[in-house]
Amino acid sequence: MVAAQSASQPSREQLLAESVADKLIRYARVNTQSSEESDQIPSTPGQLRLAEMLRAELCTLGLTDAAIDEFGFVTATLPSPSQPAPGPDNETAAPNGTVHRPGPPIVAFLAHMDTVPGVPAEPVEPMLHARYAGGDLRLPGAMILVAENPALQQVIGHDLITSDGRTLLGADDKAGIAEIMVALCRWIQDPTLPRPTIKVAFTPDEETGRGILHFDVQRFGADVAYTLDGGGIGELEYENFNAANLTVTFSGISTHTGTARGKMINALHLAADFMAAIPAGMRPETTDGRQGFIHPDTVEGRVEEVQLKLIVRDFDAAGLDAKLTLLHELARTLEMRYPGAKVEIRPTGGYQNMKTILDKQPQVVEAALQAIRAAGLEPKVVPIRGGTDGAHLTYAGLPTPNLFTGGMNYHSRTEWVSVQWMEKAVETILQLGKWWARQPQLPPSAM
Ligand SMILES: [Zn+2]
Repeated sequence: MVAAQSASQPSREQLLAESVADKLIRYARVNTQSSEESDQIPSTPGQLRLAEMLRAELCTLGLTDAAIDEFGFVTATLPSPSQPAPGPDNETAAPNGTVHRPGPPIVAFLAHMDTVPGVPAEPVEPMLHARYAGGDLRLPGAMILVAENPALQQVIGHDLITSDGRTLLGADDKAGIAEIMVALCRWIQDPTLPRPTIKVAFTPDEETGRGILHFDVQRFGADVAYTLDGGGIGELEYENFNAANLTVTFSGISTHTGTARGKMINALHLAADFMAAIPAGMRPETTDGRQGFIHPDTVEGRVEEVQLKLIVRDFDAAGLDAKLTLLHELARTLEMRYPGAKVEIRPTGGYQNMKTILDKQPQVVEAALQAIRAAGLEPKVVPIRGGTDGAHLTYAGLPTPNLFTGGMNYHSRTEWVSVQWMEKAVETILQLGKWWARQPQLPPSAM
């Protein structure tokens, strides 16, 4: 006889009674590690297993439209008790495509289901360290040292969750999922808590950056959204890099090495000169905070042709342009120095800083700042030295800053999360509901 793998589905009463820690521990046990190798979305079947679990839980909680789409996105709606349902009966579409609907904006909360590739992810054995007394955390498979984790001093007396040190924990981003689920449970249990219509989405393949490209923002139908995918307590992120990815092709001239004098142009030397001319102070390894960088990522080729892949990052659009101009000037200089050589720079993708859009809808960030304060915390605004799903969504028309989850050391076997910090994230979500419930309507997007 084969034991049923899917543990029995929790009842509505169990789901409502579960703590944020219970939920995180349950979700963390499902291996949802994404894969860079697969071009499917989701990239791994484990993500679909968690998606099915979450869809079933949302249905059990009474979110009747809970569904999984063909890419594994789980979505559901918790209608406002006092707001007309979205839909053609209560909306009028203006000629420019904007939809007018009475009542406050529809607010969405998102978290990703996958965990990062490249760190052991099976089997995750979550450990609860009740009332952490301070000092190094000794796990069966790793040590979490205070010397390397000064933030541990802020959580003495808290309940902490880690893995057993042999795998990641996956609180990135299952802490976010657990927090959103608990917030939904609180709203369901207490219909007097003020809130507008709430939508949730649990998304695949965030760590590979490819999942969100398949999200149907229009069909989702939210006006404003927040990802729960940040780190330490009180963090709010609404600024990310402007990014340009480039392929530089160096074309040389190959001859027999015995008769090369005056004829050969070695593309390998062209590439080496080009890379050597990138200022040492503009590298990821020499920059931090708000500084941008130029980063050669891979180089491939031979005498005749070399391809160099570069990424360029800067918080300011003008700063990004300046770096691109520098690279183009380097290319022209090389061509002049080696007549007959060709250096071509081709853009291969990138993304933009979401702050450019969010600055035009300041209430989206203002709501988050006020909600964090209302949860009794001091907001910490940090620029993201990378991209986020929220940046993509913001540019797709759904403004989406990122909120803290209460976890630290993400992407490692020494991940830890404070249950009390997770509770603060839940409170922040509830406060956001309260803030947005007071808003008559979202002013038109300035996009
Ligand atoms: Zn994450």
